[in-house]
Amino acid sequence: MYPSGLYGLENVQEKKKIFAEIKKATQQRKKPCPSAESVDSLMAEMPFANTDIEDEFALHATSEVNKEKKRKRTTGKEIPEGSERNKKKKKQYQPNYFVSIPITNPEITDGIRAIQDAIIQKDHRLSKAMVRCASLHVTMLVMHLSGEEEIGIAVDALSDSKDFVEDLLKGKTVDLSFQGIDHFKNEVGFVKLTENDHTAVLTEIAETMKKIFQEKGILAGEGRAFKPHLTFMKLSKSTQLRKEVKKIDSSLYDDFKNKYFGDEVLHRLDLCSMLKKKQPNGYYYCESSVFLGEKHAAEPDDAELVSLSKRLVENAVLKAVQQYLEETQNKTRQTDGSPVKTEEAASGTKNESDNDSSK
Ligand code: AMP
Repeated sequence: MYPSGLYGLENVQEKKKIFAEIKKATQQRKKPCPSAESVDSLMAEMPFANTDIEDEFALHATSEVNKEKKRKRTTGKEIPEGSERNKKKKKQYQPNYFVSIPITNPEITDGIRAIQDAIIQKDHRLSKAMVRCASLHVTMLVMHLSGEEEIGIAVDALSDSKDFVEDLLKGKTVDLSFQGIDHFKNEVGFVKLTENDHTAVLTEIAETMKKIFQEKGILAGEGRAFKPHLTFMKLSKSTQLRKEVKKIDSSLYDDFKNKYFGDEVLHRLDLCSMLKKKQPNGYYYCESSVFLGEKHAAEPDDAELVSLSKRLVENAVLKAVQQYLEETQNKTRQTDGSPVKTEEAASGTKNESDNDSSK
Protein backbone atom coordinates (compact mmCIF):
# COMPACT_ATOMS: atom_id res chain seq x y z
CA MET A 1 0.00 0.00 0.00
CA TYR A 2 2.84 2.42 0.83
CA PRO A 3 5.72 1.52 -1.45
CA SER A 4 9.16 2.95 -0.83
CA GLY A 5 10.91 5.38 -3.18
CA LEU A 6 9.55 8.30 -5.11
CA TYR A 7 5.81 8.33 -4.55
CA GLY A 8 5.85 4.62 -5.05
CA LEU A 9 7.52 4.79 -8.45
CA GLU A 10 9.63 1.71 -8.85
CA ASN A 11 10.32 2.51 -12.46
CA VAL A 12 13.90 3.74 -12.97
CA GLN A 13 12.93 5.96 -15.91
CA GLU A 14 10.32 7.76 -13.80
CA LYS A 15 12.83 8.23 -11.00
CA LYS A 16 15.33 9.72 -13.44
CA LYS A 17 12.70 12.16 -14.73
CA ILE A 18 11.83 13.38 -11.24
CA PHE A 19 15.53 13.46 -10.34
CA ALA A 20 16.09 15.78 -13.34
CA GLU A 21 13.20 18.04 -12.25
CA ILE A 22 14.58 18.33 -8.73
CA LYS A 23 18.05 19.02 -10.11
CA LYS A 24 16.59 21.84 -12.22
CA ALA A 25 14.70 23.28 -9.24
CA THR A 26 17.80 23.23 -7.05
CA GLN A 27 20.38 24.38 -9.62
CA GLN A 28 20.43 27.89 -8.11
CA ARG A 29 22.12 26.41 -5.09
CA LYS A 30 25.03 25.43 -7.36
CA LYS A 31 25.66 22.34 -5.27
CA PRO A 32 26.72 19.01 -6.70
CA CYS A 33 23.87 16.74 -7.78
CA PRO A 34 22.22 14.96 -4.88
CA SER A 35 22.61 11.25 -4.58
CA ALA A 36 19.63 8.98 -5.24
CA GLU A 37 19.24 8.56 -1.47
CA SER A 38 19.15 12.32 -0.85
CA VAL A 39 16.60 12.75 -3.64
CA ASP A 40 14.48 10.14 -1.92
CA SER A 41 14.68 11.99 1.36
CA LEU A 42 13.90 15.29 -0.37
CA MET A 43 10.80 13.77 -1.88
CA ALA A 44 9.90 12.25 1.44
CA GLU A 45 9.68 15.77 2.91
CA MET A 46 6.65 16.39 0.75
CA PRO A 47 3.12 16.04 1.98
CA PHE A 48 1.58 12.85 0.71
CA ALA A 49 5.05 11.46 0.04
CA ASN A 50 3.92 7.98 0.92
CA THR A 51 0.62 8.07 -0.82
CA ASP A 52 0.02 5.14 -3.10
CA ILE A 53 -1.37 6.88 -6.11
CA GLU A 54 -2.71 3.65 -7.53
CA ASP A 55 -4.90 2.68 -4.62
CA GLU A 56 -5.63 5.73 -2.55
CA PHE A 57 -5.04 8.83 -4.48
CA ALA A 58 -7.25 10.02 -7.27
CA LEU A 59 -6.88 13.59 -8.47
CA HIS A 60 -9.95 14.88 -10.19
CA ALA A 61 -10.87 17.75 -12.44
CA THR A 62 -14.38 18.13 -13.82
CA SER A 63 -13.00 18.51 -17.33
CA GLU A 64 -11.14 15.19 -17.01
CA VAL A 65 -14.17 13.48 -15.51
CA ASN A 66 -16.34 14.83 -18.34
CA LYS A 67 -13.84 13.74 -21.00
CA GLU A 68 -13.87 10.27 -19.50
CA LYS A 69 -17.69 10.17 -19.41
CA LYS A 70 -17.81 11.32 -23.05
CA ARG A 71 -15.30 8.65 -24.05
CA LYS A 72 -17.41 6.00 -22.30
CA ARG A 73 -20.58 7.30 -24.01
CA THR A 74 -19.04 7.22 -27.48
CA THR A 75 -17.04 3.99 -27.25
CA GLY A 76 -19.08 2.24 -24.58
CA LYS A 77 -15.76 1.07 -23.12
CA GLU A 78 -14.28 1.71 -19.73
CA ILE A 79 -10.54 1.68 -19.05
CA PRO A 80 -9.94 -1.27 -16.71
CA GLU A 81 -8.62 -0.09 -13.29
CA GLY A 82 -5.40 -2.10 -13.43
CA SER A 83 -4.63 -1.50 -17.11
CA GLU A 84 -1.23 -0.15 -18.13
CA ARG A 85 -2.88 2.90 -19.69
CA ASN A 86 -4.75 3.67 -16.50
CA LYS A 87 -1.61 3.22 -14.38
CA LYS A 88 0.39 5.52 -16.69
CA LYS A 89 -2.36 8.14 -16.58
CA LYS A 90 -2.47 8.11 -12.78
CA LYS A 91 1.33 8.34 -12.52
CA GLN A 92 1.29 11.43 -14.72
CA TYR A 93 -1.03 13.15 -12.30
CA GLN A 94 0.87 12.69 -9.07
CA PRO A 95 0.34 15.60 -6.70
CA ASN A 96 3.09 18.21 -6.86
CA TYR A 97 1.29 21.19 -5.27
CA PHE A 98 -0.92 21.66 -2.24
CA VAL A 99 -2.87 24.33 -0.42
CA SER A 100 -1.51 24.73 3.08
CA ILE A 101 -2.50 26.42 6.31
CA PRO A 102 0.83 27.23 7.93
CA ILE A 103 1.20 26.72 11.68
CA THR A 104 2.43 30.01 13.10
CA ASN A 105 1.49 29.78 16.79
CA PRO A 106 4.75 29.16 18.73
CA GLU A 107 2.78 27.47 21.52
CA ILE A 108 1.85 24.73 19.03
CA THR A 109 5.32 24.41 17.48
CA ASP A 110 6.95 24.31 20.95
CA GLY A 111 4.54 21.59 22.05
CA ILE A 112 5.28 19.58 18.93
CA ARG A 113 9.02 19.97 19.42
CA ALA A 114 8.58 18.63 22.96
CA ILE A 115 6.73 15.52 21.81
CA GLN A 116 9.23 14.95 18.99
CA ASP A 117 12.12 15.17 21.48
CA ALA A 118 10.38 12.79 23.88
CA ILE A 119 9.82 10.23 21.09
CA ILE A 120 13.43 10.52 19.88
CA GLN A 121 14.64 9.96 23.46
CA LYS A 122 12.83 6.63 23.44
CA ASP A 123 13.74 5.64 19.88
CA HIS A 124 16.63 7.45 18.25
CA ARG A 125 15.89 6.01 14.83
CA LEU A 126 12.71 8.10 14.66
CA SER A 127 14.65 11.39 14.54
CA LYS A 128 14.58 10.91 10.76
CA ALA A 129 10.78 10.77 10.82
CA MET A 130 10.26 14.18 12.39
CA VAL A 131 8.72 17.05 10.43
CA ARG A 132 10.68 20.28 10.96
CA CYS A 133 8.73 22.85 12.94
CA ALA A 134 9.03 25.47 10.18
CA SER A 135 7.15 23.23 7.74
CA LEU A 136 4.27 22.31 10.03
CA HIS A 137 0.97 22.80 8.23
CA VAL A 138 -2.53 21.51 7.68
CA THR A 139 -3.10 20.32 4.12
CA MET A 140 -6.35 21.64 2.64
CA LEU A 141 -6.07 20.31 -0.90
CA VAL A 142 -3.54 18.52 -3.07
CA MET A 143 -3.28 18.86 -6.83
CA HIS A 144 -1.21 18.26 -9.90
CA LEU A 145 -0.06 21.33 -11.83
CA SER A 146 1.85 20.87 -15.04
CA GLY A 147 3.69 24.01 -16.07
CA GLU A 148 3.45 27.75 -15.60
CA GLU A 149 0.03 28.09 -17.23
CA GLU A 150 -1.60 25.72 -14.76
CA ILE A 151 0.24 27.37 -11.86
CA GLY A 152 -1.31 30.68 -13.00
CA ILE A 153 -4.77 29.09 -13.10
CA ALA A 154 -4.24 27.68 -9.60
CA VAL A 155 -3.13 31.11 -8.33
CA ASP A 156 -6.43 32.53 -9.70
CA ALA A 157 -8.36 29.69 -8.07
CA LEU A 158 -6.71 30.49 -4.73
CA SER A 159 -7.70 34.13 -5.12
CA ASP A 160 -11.30 33.09 -5.90
CA SER A 161 -11.18 30.88 -2.81
CA LYS A 162 -10.27 33.92 -0.68
CA ASP A 163 -13.43 35.70 -1.90
CA PHE A 164 -15.51 32.64 -1.11
CA VAL A 165 -14.00 32.19 2.36
CA GLU A 166 -14.47 35.86 3.26
CA ASP A 167 -18.10 35.74 2.10
CA LEU A 168 -18.64 32.61 4.15
CA LEU A 169 -17.00 33.95 7.31
CA LYS A 170 -18.47 37.47 7.20
CA GLY A 171 -15.77 38.78 9.52
CA LYS A 172 -15.77 35.76 11.85
CA THR A 173 -12.60 33.74 12.36
CA VAL A 174 -11.89 30.04 12.03
CA ASP A 175 -10.20 28.99 15.24
CA LEU A 176 -8.48 25.64 14.92
CA SER A 177 -7.86 23.88 18.21
CA PHE A 178 -5.14 21.24 18.32
CA GLN A 179 -5.42 18.50 20.92
CA GLY A 180 -4.45 14.84 21.19
CA ILE A 181 -2.41 12.50 19.01
CA ASP A 182 -3.50 9.98 16.42
CA HIS A 183 -1.93 8.11 13.54
CA PHE A 184 -2.52 6.78 10.04
CA LYS A 185 -1.60 3.10 9.92
CA ASN A 186 1.12 3.62 12.54
CA GLU A 187 3.19 5.23 9.78
CA VAL A 188 2.15 8.87 10.17
CA GLY A 189 1.80 10.59 13.56
CA PHE A 190 -0.36 13.68 13.76
CA VAL A 191 -1.98 16.12 16.19
CA LYS A 192 -5.76 16.06 15.98
CA LEU A 193 -8.05 19.01 15.42
CA THR A 194 -10.85 19.24 17.96
CA GLU A 195 -14.10 18.65 16.10
CA ASN A 196 -16.45 21.60 16.50
CA ASP A 197 -18.23 24.29 14.42
CA HIS A 198 -14.86 25.64 13.33
CA THR A 199 -13.70 22.34 11.85
CA ALA A 200 -17.09 22.05 10.14
CA VAL A 201 -16.41 25.43 8.49
CA LEU A 202 -12.89 24.28 7.60
CA THR A 203 -14.33 21.20 5.89
CA GLU A 204 -16.76 23.38 3.95
CA ILE A 205 -13.86 25.59 2.86
CA ALA A 206 -11.78 22.57 1.78
CA GLU A 207 -14.67 21.08 -0.18
CA THR A 208 -15.53 24.35 -1.91
CA MET A 209 -11.89 25.00 -2.76
CA LYS A 210 -11.73 21.58 -4.34
CA LYS A 211 -14.71 22.55 -6.52
CA ILE A 212 -13.23 25.96 -7.40
CA PHE A 213 -9.95 24.36 -8.52
CA GLN A 214 -11.67 21.51 -10.35
CA GLU A 215 -14.01 23.87 -12.21
CA LYS A 216 -10.94 25.61 -13.60
CA GLY A 217 -9.75 22.25 -14.93
CA ILE A 218 -7.14 21.59 -12.23
CA LEU A 219 -6.64 17.99 -11.16
CA ALA A 220 -7.28 18.53 -7.48
CA GLY A 221 -8.55 16.59 -4.49
CA GLU A 222 -8.47 13.04 -3.31
CA GLY A 223 -10.88 10.18 -3.48
CA ARG A 224 -11.05 10.02 0.33
CA ALA A 225 -12.87 12.44 2.61
CA PHE A 226 -11.08 15.51 3.97
CA LYS A 227 -9.58 14.71 7.37
CA PRO A 228 -7.71 17.74 8.67
CA HIS A 229 -4.65 16.85 10.75
CA LEU A 230 -1.24 18.20 11.70
CA THR A 231 1.48 15.72 10.78
CA PHE A 232 4.57 15.85 13.00
CA MET A 233 6.24 12.58 12.01
CA LYS A 234 6.09 10.09 9.18
CA LEU A 235 8.17 7.07 8.33
CA SER A 236 8.20 8.02 4.66
CA LYS A 237 10.60 10.90 5.38
CA SER A 238 13.46 8.43 5.10
CA THR A 239 13.73 5.36 2.89
CA GLN A 240 16.38 4.00 5.24
CA LEU A 241 14.04 4.44 8.20
CA ARG A 242 11.20 2.70 6.39
CA LYS A 243 13.41 -0.34 6.04
CA GLU A 244 14.29 -0.26 9.75
CA VAL A 245 10.91 0.64 11.26
CA LYS A 246 7.72 -0.78 9.83
CA LYS A 247 5.30 0.63 12.41
CA ILE A 248 5.55 3.41 14.97
CA ASP A 249 4.73 2.09 18.43
CA SER A 250 1.92 4.29 19.77
CA SER A 251 3.15 3.78 23.36
CA LEU A 252 6.01 6.15 22.45
CA TYR A 253 3.61 9.09 22.63
CA ASP A 254 1.20 7.80 25.27
CA ASP A 255 2.10 10.66 27.64
CA PHE A 256 0.85 13.17 25.05
CA LYS A 257 -2.27 11.31 23.96
CA ASN A 258 -4.59 14.07 25.20
CA LYS A 259 -2.22 17.01 25.31
CA TYR A 260 -3.62 20.39 24.28
CA PHE A 261 -1.16 22.06 21.89
CA GLY A 262 -2.88 25.40 21.25
CA ASP A 263 -5.08 27.19 18.74
CA GLU A 264 -4.28 28.52 15.28
CA VAL A 265 -6.53 31.15 13.73
CA LEU A 266 -6.90 30.64 10.00
CA HIS A 267 -5.42 33.78 8.50
CA ARG A 268 -3.48 32.56 5.47
CA LEU A 269 -3.71 29.99 2.71
CA ASP A 270 -0.61 29.17 0.65
CA LEU A 271 -0.26 27.47 -2.71
CA CYS A 272 2.90 25.45 -2.05
CA SER A 273 5.17 23.39 -4.23
CA MET A 274 6.10 19.91 -3.07
CA LEU A 275 9.18 19.83 -5.29
CA LYS A 276 10.69 23.30 -5.39
CA LYS A 277 13.44 24.17 -2.94
CA LYS A 278 12.06 25.24 0.44
CA GLN A 279 12.42 28.83 1.63
CA PRO A 280 15.41 29.73 3.84
CA ASN A 281 13.01 29.79 6.81
CA GLY A 282 12.30 26.09 6.26
CA TYR A 283 8.74 26.53 4.96
CA TYR A 284 7.61 25.40 1.54
CA TYR A 285 8.08 27.43 -1.66
CA CYS A 286 4.85 29.41 -2.16
CA GLU A 287 3.54 30.33 -5.60
CA SER A 288 0.92 32.52 -3.98
CA SER A 289 -0.62 33.32 -0.59
CA VAL A 290 -3.96 34.81 0.35
CA PHE A 291 -4.58 36.60 3.62
CA LEU A 292 -7.98 36.23 5.21
CA GLY A 293 -9.98 38.62 7.32
CA GLU A 294 -7.80 41.37 8.65
CA LYS A 295 -5.68 43.31 6.23
CA HIS A 296 -2.08 42.23 5.91
CA ALA A 297 0.33 44.98 7.00
CA ALA A 298 2.21 45.02 3.70
CA GLU A 299 -0.98 45.06 1.65
CA PRO A 300 -2.58 48.53 1.21
CA ASP A 301 -6.29 48.18 0.56
CA ASP A 302 -8.06 49.55 -2.55
CA ALA A 303 -9.20 52.77 -0.84
CA GLU A 304 -5.64 53.51 0.26
CA LEU A 305 -4.30 52.93 -3.24
CA VAL A 306 -6.97 55.20 -4.78
CA SER A 307 -6.26 58.03 -2.33
CA LEU A 308 -2.50 57.66 -2.82
CA SER A 309 -2.71 57.85 -6.62
CA LYS A 310 -5.14 60.82 -6.32
CA ARG A 311 -2.63 62.71 -4.20
CA LEU A 312 0.18 61.93 -6.63
CA VAL A 313 -1.85 63.23 -9.59
CA GLU A 314 -2.92 66.37 -7.69
CA ASN A 315 0.68 67.15 -6.75
CA ALA A 316 1.91 66.62 -10.31
CA VAL A 317 -0.82 68.94 -11.68
CA LEU A 318 -0.04 71.58 -9.03
CA LYS A 319 3.65 71.51 -9.91
CA ALA A 320 2.93 71.80 -13.63
CA VAL A 321 0.59 74.78 -13.11
CA GLN A 322 3.11 76.48 -10.83
CA GLN A 323 5.90 75.98 -13.38
CA TYR A 324 3.70 77.31 -16.16
CA LEU A 325 2.83 80.42 -14.12
CA GLU A 326 6.49 81.06 -13.32
CA GLU A 327 7.51 80.71 -16.95
CA THR A 328 4.78 83.10 -18.18
CA GLN A 329 5.67 85.60 -15.44
CA ASN A 330 9.34 85.48 -16.48
CA LYS A 331 8.44 85.92 -20.14
CA THR A 332 6.26 88.96 -19.30
CA ARG A 333 9.11 90.52 -17.28
CA GLN A 334 11.53 89.94 -20.18
CA THR A 335 9.24 91.72 -22.65
CA ASP A 336 8.21 94.66 -20.36
CA GLY A 337 11.84 95.21 -19.19
CA SER A 338 11.36 94.17 -15.52
CA PRO A 339 14.24 92.06 -14.01
CA VAL A 340 14.32 88.34 -14.86
CA LYS A 341 14.02 85.99 -11.87
CA THR A 342 17.33 84.53 -10.65
CA GLU A 343 17.99 80.79 -10.11
CA GLU A 344 18.09 81.17 -6.29
CA ALA A 345 14.73 82.88 -6.27
CA ALA A 346 13.36 80.15 -8.49
CA SER A 347 14.73 77.43 -6.19
CA GLY A 348 12.99 79.12 -3.24
CA THR A 349 9.69 78.66 -5.06
CA LYS A 350 10.61 75.02 -5.84
CA ASN A 351 11.21 74.21 -2.19
CA GLU A 352 7.83 75.61 -1.28
CA SER A 353 6.19 73.41 -3.84
CA ASP A 354 8.20 70.43 -2.51
CA ASN A 355 6.84 71.13 0.93
CA ASP A 356 3.37 71.16 -0.50
CA SER A 357 3.77 67.75 -2.08
CA SER A 358 4.86 66.18 1.21
CA LYS A 359 1.55 67.18 2.88
P1 AMP B 1 0.29 15.76 5.23
O1 AMP B 1 -0.08 16.02 6.64
O2 AMP B 1 -0.66 16.34 4.26
O3 AMP B 1 1.72 16.09 4.96
O4 AMP B 1 0.17 14.18 5.02
C1 AMP B 1 1.05 13.26 5.65
C2 AMP B 1 0.72 11.85 5.23
O5 AMP B 1 -0.50 11.44 5.78
C3 AMP B 1 0.59 11.68 3.74
O6 AMP B 1 1.73 11.06 3.24
C4 AMP B 1 -0.63 10.82 3.52
O7 AMP B 1 -0.29 9.60 2.94
C5 AMP B 1 -1.19 10.59 4.88
N1 AMP B 1 -2.59 10.93 4.93
C6 AMP B 1 -3.13 12.15 4.81
N2 AMP B 1 -4.48 12.13 4.95
C7 AMP B 1 -4.79 10.83 5.16
C8 AMP B 1 -6.02 10.14 5.40
N3 AMP B 1 -7.18 10.78 5.45
N4 AMP B 1 -5.96 8.81 5.57
C9 AMP B 1 -4.78 8.15 5.56
N5 AMP B 1 -3.59 8.72 5.36
C10 AMP B 1 -3.58 10.06 5.16
